[in-house]
Amino acid sequence: MPFRDVCGQDRAVRLLRSAWAGGRLAQAYCFTGPPGVGKRTTAVALAQAVKCLSPVAASAAGEDPDACGTCRACTLIAAGRHPDVTLTAPEEKTVITIDQIRGVAARAGLGAYEGAGKVWILDPAHEMQEPAANAFLKTLEEPPTGSLFILVTTGFSALLPTIRSRCQEVRFPPLAPEHLRTILERLGRSAEDAAAAVAVAGGSAERALAMNASEVRAARARLVEEVWSALDSLPALLDRAERIGKDRDALEDALEALLAFTRDASVAGIGPSGAALLSAERRAEVARVTGDAPLAVLLQVHAAQREAQQTLAWHAQPRYAAERMLLKMRQALGRK
Ligand SMILES: [Zn+2]
Repeated sequence: MPFRDVCGQDRAVRLLRSAWAGGRLAQAYCFTGPPGVGKRTTAVALAQAVKCLSPVAASAAGEDPDACGTCRACTLIAAGRHPDVTLTAPEEKTVITIDQIRGVAARAGLGAYEGAGKVWILDPAHEMQEPAANAFLKTLEEPPTGSLFILVTTGFSALLPTIRSRCQEVRFPPLAPEHLRTILERLGRSAEDAAAAVAVAGGSAERALAMNASEVRAARARLVEEVWSALDSLPALLDRAERIGKDRDALEDALEALLAFTRDASVAGIGPSGAALLSAERRAEVARVTGDAPLAVLLQVHAAQREAQQTLAWHAQPRYAAERMLLKMRQALGRK
């Protein structure tokens, strides 16, 4: 997909897009960041920009040019079949071997099949064995003209310093929840599934996609249990408040899980008729976490959580809102 469709990595995309549009691309880039945040996707977008046969002109709004995404070159790159764009990935899912790098070096020396330059994507670059890394270093030291190397890695420091110093690093931070949600929904997840996965995926689309619904449920249950058990001690409570209140999105996600749980606990607290509405698994979870908290207490807990949600909407400090909520929950439950 072209640059304009890369979701949630505006800074990296802007930098690369304007370098390409201005003819200022470096010889070698290293895309660094956690797994599943768009490094490979952006590498493909850059390759498409370089090789596109009919790039889109700069927009009136001042956006830099971009690949068209639909010409023959763009389509072949998206399918991983363009003769001038090579993805080198570990063989048998372990390491990038010296033979693979020798292949890169040999072919990089030949002219491009079509248009300007060749693009090499090495992903994950830190899986180069030492001989492979040394061989690659030679290629970087005397780069064939028109070659663009894109190293993709989660561990910049695991690369040889001599390789690092020849690459321009481009950082890819974890994805913000709204971007992650957009990506998941684009891939066909329901809004509800996407929201649940986002709450526990730590900004990684890869992690969110790898989670099935039951894993997501388990991760949310863990979060709820951790919050409730932190109510027993003040230092643990403050520590937990800091974590779930580290930013707005984190607190919104935690509140979603906490409120859903408290609602279920209240339903179970009504008595056998309410408990019958929940799955056996959820009933056991409720009993384990809340002990035998009476309905009146659970309603106070629910009120504290709703209040946190409202104060957050009024732009309260997330950490302060989290602390206040946990203190109120602790008080309602009479924990010492
Ligand atoms: Zn194109």
